[in-house]
Amino acid sequence: MQSFKNAFLARSLSENYHKLTSNEHQIRDECGAFGIMGHPDAATLTALGLQALQHRGQEAAGIVTVDGDRFYAERRMGLVRDNFTKNSVINRLCGNIAVGHVRYSTTGETAMRNVQPLFADMNFGGLSLAHNGNLTNALAIRRELEKTGAIFQSTTDTETILHLIAQSTKATVVDKFVEALFKVNGAYALIGSSKDQLIGVRDPLGIRPLVLGRLGESYVLASETCALDIIGANFIREIENGELVSITSNGIQSLKPFPPIKERPCIFEYIYFARPDSLVGGKSVYECRKNFGRELAKESHVEADMVIPVPDSGVPAAIGYAEASKTPYELGIIRNHYVGRTFIQPQQSIRSFGVKLKHNANASLIHGKKIILLDDSIVRGTTSVKIVRMMREAGAKEVHFRVASPPITHPDFYGIDTPNKDQLLASSNTCEEMRDHLEADSLSFLSISGLYRALGHPAGRDDTIPQFTDHCFTGDYPTTLEDRDGKQAEFQLSFLSSPTHPEG
Ligand code: 5GP
Ligand code: MG
Repeated sequence: MQSFKNAFLARSLSENYHKLTSNEHQIRDECGAFGIMGHPDAATLTALGLQALQHRGQEAAGIVTVDGDRFYAERRMGLVRDNFTKNSVINRLCGNIAVGHVRYSTTGETAMRNVQPLFADMNFGGLSLAHNGNLTNALAIRRELEKTGAIFQSTTDTETILHLIAQSTKATVVDKFVEALFKVNGAYALIGSSKDQLIGVRDPLGIRPLVLGRLGESYVLASETCALDIIGANFIREIENGELVSITSNGIQSLKPFPPIKERPCIFEYIYFARPDSLVGGKSVYECRKNFGRELAKESHVEADMVIPVPDSGVPAAIGYAEASKTPYELGIIRNHYVGRTFIQPQQSIRSFGVKLKHNANASLIHGKKIILLDDSIVRGTTSVKIVRMMREAGAKEVHFRVASPPITHPDFYGIDTPNKDQLLASSNTCEEMRDHLEADSLSFLSISGLYRALGHPAGRDDTIPQFTDHCFTGDYPTTLEDRDGKQAEFQLSFLSSPTHPEG
């Protein structure tokens, strides 16, 4: 354990710079997408929608509009509020159809060409495309396409879909989409537009979310319902798994081109990604998180003076935990919401402030107390280590760490860019080893069955048809992983070991 600890510390130090510049994010966020058809303020409404989806990706944003003939594109690194609130940018985005995207991309100059929505001129006209999710065979397809002379402009998996659409010999844009999508595997919630139609699609398992709304005469597509709320649009329904909708000035048409299979939406939307005020799968994300806390209290409560959330992601679960265990809920950690990326300087002196830029202990409350710290998840454990230490420095007598999700043992390939398996704290450590690493007095995670119970599945996780995509906790990947397996064969990447099925 000691050597593990040292290795971990060394890694934490070298990661410090990256962590600070990425606003303390442990694993990369996925993306958010938005689209609107038939509104004179399409660009402005899309900027607002993206603002509501900012939590899904903070590194870059883009909007592509079309005025019935010409397309207009603006893509920027950075936050929506810093780029898309300017009239000079919005006024260039003419037309009443718009598609927008927020993403977490890699930094550096290669990033700009990957900023979405992508756009391509096809033989039928222009096409914009925004993608939330990740394909698991994009690299394999790309290599095949490159052999026959295809030239790729970006390094995103999304561009593969554009190439496949361009190659399709089908007559209509929708049929071209469908033909292309039959060739790809993995997770995709797509919003695209041609010069006169808006298209939305979810992959056959519905791994990533996509909802449909209505604002007056206009239809809206978005990753989450909170993006409908911000523009005053009504939530109509979710796009179903394997469904494609085509929206034109004549209305909306729904297609189910894939052989029907049972949906398996990503369980991590409930745990961390989605905003608590969104509805996912018809459920309030906030209520689900409170339920995780309630179940956790039932499973592993310990007597303490107070329950303290790690803000903001731990807040709803901590409220549920406090309520179920009748323990006072207190704000023992205060989060600074103004820590911007621009503030953070790469100097050693500032780097060493570490987590304190974002979180600070409410020392007068904590001093001499037995506390339960509650967070939504542990990924690398780097934040958790620092937070526990901060609580001790503030005088906490006992620190009991409770996690409102099961241990994350497996990496994701569907749009959450989790660290390699060997960087996931729970992939190679027992609960006791993790407790020791965090220097907590006790550590407990929500069980898989508790997680499913909290989501309204009293019988737990059905072995034959799990109701969610939950590989992060189980290793049960719902699709083939050609790119991972191909790479494994090519480079013998040892960290990508085969999936296992540890829990039912
Ligand atoms: P750790 O202690 O593992 O270093 O970090 C855990 C924290 O990371 C939790 O507070 C959790 O909210 C956060 N987290 C979990 N998943 C993600 C993610 O995909 N992106 C970001 N930015 N943070 C995450
Ligand atoms: Mg958090």
